Amino acid sequence: TIRMDEGAAELLDTLHRAGYAAYVVGGCVRDSLLGLTPHDWDLCTSALPQQVTELFGAQRCIPTGLQHGTVTVKQSGALYEITTFRTEGTYTDGRHPDEVHFVPDVREDLARRDLTINAMAYNEKEGLVDPFGGQADLQSGIVRAVGVPRQRFTEDALRILRLYRFAARFGFAIDPPTAQAAQELCAHLDCVSVERIEEELAKLLSAPAPAAYLNEKILGVVLPELSSEALAAAKPVVDACPAGAENLPIRLAALLLSLGEDGIRRTLKRLRCSNALIEEAAVLVREARGCDGSFLFGHDSGHSIARPIAFGNRVPPQRTVLRETTVTPGFTIYARRLLGRYNLCTVQRIAALGTALQPERAADFAALSELAEQLDADGVCCRVSQLAVNGRDLMAAGVPAGPGIRKILEALLDGVIREEYPNERQALLAAVQQLAAS
Ligand code: ATP
Ligand code: MG
Repeated sequence: TIRMDEGAAELLDTLHRAGYAAYVVGGCVRDSLLGLTPHDWDLCTSALPQQVTELFGAQRCIPTGLQHGTVTVKQSGALYEITTFRTEGTYTDGRHPDEVHFVPDVREDLARRDLTINAMAYNEKEGLVDPFGGQADLQSGIVRAVGVPRQRFTEDALRILRLYRFAARFGFAIDPPTAQAAQELCAHLDCVSVERIEEELAKLLSAPAPAAYLNEKILGVVLPELSSEALAAAKPVVDACPAGAENLPIRLAALLLSLGEDGIRRTLKRLRCSNALIEEAAVLVREARGCDGSFLFGHDSGHSIARPIAFGNRVPPQRTVLRETTVTPGFTIYARRLLGRYNLCTVQRIAALGTALQPERAADFAALSELAEQLDADGVCCRVSQLAVNGRDLMAAGVPAGPGIRKILEALLDGVIREEYPNERQALLAAVQQLAAS
């Protein structure tokens, strides 16, 4: 059963009373039937865009895509897309229909949609309109093209990626003839703009366990930089990373680790990812590089790892006790150096990627993540800007202005992090004298 959104119900009611056919359609019907809460409710109707605008009044309407029949209408403080029933004309570019035709029947509109689970409509009067067996496919966990798969993928190759994206999102199987057509026609993906490919790839990678859906042939077209051997090696790592859109940089780093820092930058730039996403993924690859085991934990400090809490009765000289582990001084140094370079969120992503790459060290990475959080919350000094002295203090103490100032501040920070002296003004100024003398 479908628990209808109130705003959508209100809009349907207005359309029906004006004599138009109208339904909620697509993702919201699918998600409702799955027992999930839809993130938006799309409507379709026999009313033409102009009639929709007249019915609801121009001040409530945004002409989102009039040529495709879409008007966005404000209702109960939310926005709803209302699209006129339409079919699509011929496709000559493998992506965009040359024209759209408005039609009176919802079934014709459903026939242009990509997957059976996305091709259902609903209203309270008629119930579910499901001409392609979408509900049965939802129940058996299958994604299947509407109509003849070859034809539908030839019309619009983006549907090939959407197929894998939706299958991954719900952990569904792919109908075999649909999968076969997708793989045969995947070269057509080169007609699709990189922005759309990036969007689908991002959603695919955010799924709970995408590895089984990272099809070698299809990835070969959209990510030619990645060899099939590297893909095979990356798959279990990708699944071991946390899911969800907020963890996309981790999943991308896991997938593209073999390209190295420069390689991942180039590839993500080609896909027109945002600069923030490129930077974050590249940092993760930089920190994880060589994770065949050589890297993480103290690749720059020579120190390493947390130890289990029980190592005899001996209490280590300087210690931070976390829930499960006692952290060695070297480990704290490593965490502070990371926090000096990156923010807490990035450090925790480094730990998450580390866990995915080296599950046998999961406890170490959990300790790193927790320690970083504690250091950050306590405001423990990890950066030059957190030192108890600044450049002006150094000049007042007789250090000549110039690039030497920065160098001395960094040397002071290093000493603070290694706990050679506390982050206190007097101690730091004394250390400056020593540094100047040496
Ligand atoms: P999501 O929750 O990810 O938004 P959705 O089903 O709403 O899922 P959209 O990409 O927003 O997906 O598309 C809305 C609907 O439009 C789909 O359910 C599908 O019926 C149809 N659709 C979208 N893109 C295509 C396409 N390329 N070819 C055919 N139908 C499509
Ligand atoms: Mg949607």
